[in-house]
Amino acid sequence: MLVVRAVEDQPNRGIKKGDEFRLYIVDAHHHMGREKGHKNTPAGAYEFYAQLWFEIQKKTQTLIEDDRLLFEPVRIEAPELATKLFQNKANWARLDHGWLVDRTIVFPYTDDYSFPSSKGEPSFKVSNDKIASWTSRAPHSSRLIGFARVNPLDGSYKGNPVAVNELERAVLSLGLRGLKLHPLAQLFVDSIEKNEPREVVKRAGELGIPVIFDTRNMRTVVRIKRLVDSMRNDPDCGAAMKGLRVILAHCGMSPGDSRLYEALKDPVIFAETSTLHDRDVPVLFESAHERLSSSNREWSDKILFGTDFSFLSVQAMDIILHLLSREFPGTLADIQRVLAGNALSLVNSPFRTSTGSSEPPAEFICKDESLTIQHDIEDSVIKLIVEGSWDLLSLDFMIPPIGTWPELIPLTNGGFNGVCMDSYVLALKSKGKLQELHLWVRRRPDDYISCTVLSTQGMTRLDTLENASQLISPVLVRSISDHSQEFRSSKEMSSRMLELLMGR
Ligand SMILES: [Zn+2]
Repeated sequence: MLVVRAVEDQPNRGIKKGDEFRLYIVDAHHHMGREKGHKNTPAGAYEFYAQLWFEIQKKTQTLIEDDRLLFEPVRIEAPELATKLFQNKANWARLDHGWLVDRTIVFPYTDDYSFPSSKGEPSFKVSNDKIASWTSRAPHSSRLIGFARVNPLDGSYKGNPVAVNELERAVLSLGLRGLKLHPLAQLFVDSIEKNEPREVVKRAGELGIPVIFDTRNMRTVVRIKRLVDSMRNDPDCGAAMKGLRVILAHCGMSPGDSRLYEALKDPVIFAETSTLHDRDVPVLFESAHERLSSSNREWSDKILFGTDFSFLSVQAMDIILHLLSREFPGTLADIQRVLAGNALSLVNSPFRTSTGSSEPPAEFICKDESLTIQHDIEDSVIKLIVEGSWDLLSLDFMIPPIGTWPELIPLTNGGFNGVCMDSYVLALKSKGKLQELHLWVRRRPDDYISCTVLSTQGMTRLDTLENASQLISPVLVRSISDHSQEFRSSKEMSSRMLELLMGR
């Protein structure tokens, strides 16, 4: 998280000079694997973020001297639970840095090993396996979100569409949570609207995962918009349109082009900032503010921060510093949406694969005014993970319901930025039995801490990370209250909870 400080009073926003705010940051575009000269792993990502922070600090000095900034970046803070996990093992602790960026959406390069080795084998099979093994294992699973990649032109094998099958495997078996498509690298720029890419996009919509397209020019953006329109008018795509979200990586590289904003007025289309730098950056935000404000959503709901590391590196600094500058046409809530809220809202559901089973939930509650009980419980779960009896598949914080991201609160009043650091879902997998479950930890308004053990499948699973009781299915709510037990001490509560975990 990036802590920023107001350089002057902003009475119209209720901000005082010296007020500090915590910005949570998600990088929505990041590659891992190996492609010719490029190579990257989780360690490389954290190293890059540490370097990016160093460069931001250097540039900040000049910008402050020229009085260009409204908020000065002052320091980095790691999210407490994630950093605690990293600190619990010596060879993890040395990776506990680079917390300028809190979460990273990771997908393959056109890897050296992405080409099929036999007939009928999909492109990117090995790449997707590698992304899953990096992103769904402790400690990196607390920081990384894995997306798959496929080649829609893989054709069919024994009557089955190869790319669609690989997408299903990546999402349902590996637990990858989105899809990256690269029309230029996989040579389908001219056939985006044709049957094969369309079938892949349709399946992604049905699976409810976001699709990020590389877009290097407006021609590609226009084609993607036409594809979405034609799917919307096709009764066969009804289910797909319910879950479809499309992200235009690189904003078509033309942030001033009106066709970009025509596409962004579509409720399911979004844009990501990587490659934009220098004067492109103010053009993007001014144009978005001007052209998207009339719609019924916030204009800033449409733009996601991304770096495209390792193809690009310090360019990302221009985006972050522009958001903090006097030139930026929005509030801290707009900044937070761009830096993290939109990406988290697009991913939206907690990690799961299809291997989980369906069992009734079990809720453990305890009065916990001082957070000590919550910290004790966290310590015992971290111990399970570090000792290796359970692996952490993901750590997903609860977020505000879509369209309701709040204004930020200064640190002196708690520093809330929308990401609920004390309410989250841990996706866990037992080592021995390969059982998968969710541990849903919540602070209740009455100062109770609630820990619910949930199956990842069936009627009583948790489908959304949006923190609003009206979005949780009534069946789940009822079932939790039927299986709820209250405890008086953290010792009693965690031992009963661990007993249950060990039994599964
Ligand atoms: Zn890229």
